[in-house]
Amino acid sequence: MNATEATTTYFLRAARLLDLDQRTERQLLTPFREIKVECTMTRDDGTLATFVGYRVQHDNARGPMKGGIRYHPQVDPDEVSALAALMTWKTAIADLPYGGAKGGINCTPKQLSERELQRLTRVFTQKIHDLIGPHMDIPAPDMGTNAQTMAWIADEYGKFHGHSPAVVTGKPVELGGSLGREAATGRGLLYATECLFEDEGKSVAGQTYAIQGFGNVGSWAARLFHQAGGRVVAASDASGAVRNRDGLDVDALATHTARTGGVTGFSGGEAFPADQLLYEECDALIPAALGGVLTKDTAPNVRARYVLEGANHPSDPEADEIFARNGVVVLPDVYANAGGVTVSYLEWVQNIQQFRWDEERVNTELRRSMRAAYTSLAATRTAYKCDLRTAAFALAVARVAAATRLRGSD
Ligand code: NAD
Repeated sequence: MNATEATTTYFLRAARLLDLDQRTERQLLTPFREIKVECTMTRDDGTLATFVGYRVQHDNARGPMKGGIRYHPQVDPDEVSALAALMTWKTAIADLPYGGAKGGINCTPKQLSERELQRLTRVFTQKIHDLIGPHMDIPAPDMGTNAQTMAWIADEYGKFHGHSPAVVTGKPVELGGSLGREAATGRGLLYATECLFEDEGKSVAGQTYAIQGFGNVGSWAARLFHQAGGRVVAASDASGAVRNRDGLDVDALATHTARTGGVTGFSGGEAFPADQLLYEECDALIPAALGGVLTKDTAPNVRARYVLEGANHPSDPEADEIFARNGVVVLPDVYANAGGVTVSYLEWVQNIQQFRWDEERVNTELRRSMRAAYTSLAATRTAYKCDLRTAAFALAVARVAAATRLRGSD
């Protein structure tokens, strides 16, 4: 099942539960705008190369659209469209005054030099600058992009529209980025997990965790769960996987990864095949890399009791059914990884106020927001007697539908 089919399945399930009328259902299913641009730029060797870029703006009923920009060879219109819709639901669950969007360029960033990445980013920005903006659509980093990418977008956008730091979030702190943004998605996942475990009479401390992906989300989750007393027993990335039943020294692993580019070769654990990470013995599995990894083929072999979705769309609906049968509780991506967009929102607020908050204030607001969202989520789950993913979509769709109706239409 592809990403759009999966997202549509979840949406329709929520729409039925809410008894949503046909008109609103159609409005919410149809993206606001889909942009495709050809980005031609000069390579370092003087030749020309063309890359296809996308921006899908899904819905703006609750506010300007918001979502990451991904540089990856698997970027395609279907995936971008599904992830844009997911952002609409995610910002609604977190109760942020935003809609949803997503973008990406089909490219392999590791095969491009820093200068080529900068040129590509500037060309992409030139092509979409009049369709983004602080009150229209606000990009952020995603897989393959980072604070530097956002700095280039803000700089290029500024040439057309004047100094506008609020056009992107996830910027370097020196250019108006928020303190706490880099760790925000991992930290939000920790706060979300605290809420879930409290509900279940457990705590983050003392549980074991296996983490797929050791990039921004995975490595921060590893450090923060470890600091909270959790034991990270396995971690993987594109280079390989490493495990240690006594718990990995997460800080040493992060240092090793920063130095060598991957977890492979880490001396503080035993190497094993990365495709086995999902099946590691642990209390909680944290997918924090690619989407679509938990399917009808892989889900039956998951031994964890909890799946904490750091990545976007790691599980498909068939995997969910298997998890439900096997008693595996899933903390769904639309809530679990909302910490990133929440601190993006706090960055945007600081940019608009032209006022900087300290990191403690940012983290306090993030925790308050994740806990408030969980309270609404748990209440929705109780009201509809459903799983957390269905509850998350029901909560989101109800909020966006209400905004859509209140705005009115012809
Ligand atoms: P990243 O590029 O920083 O890290 C991705 C990690 O996944 C890297 O360690 C990479 O080596 C690893 N990886 C790639 N292929 C793999 C494979 N086959 N097996 C194991 N590991 C593999 O990206 P990120 O920002 O950490 O994003 C990870 C996921 O989290 C994505 O799904 C993204 O959409 C989602 N997400 C990110 C944020 C954010 O703030 N960065 C927010 C919400 C959701």
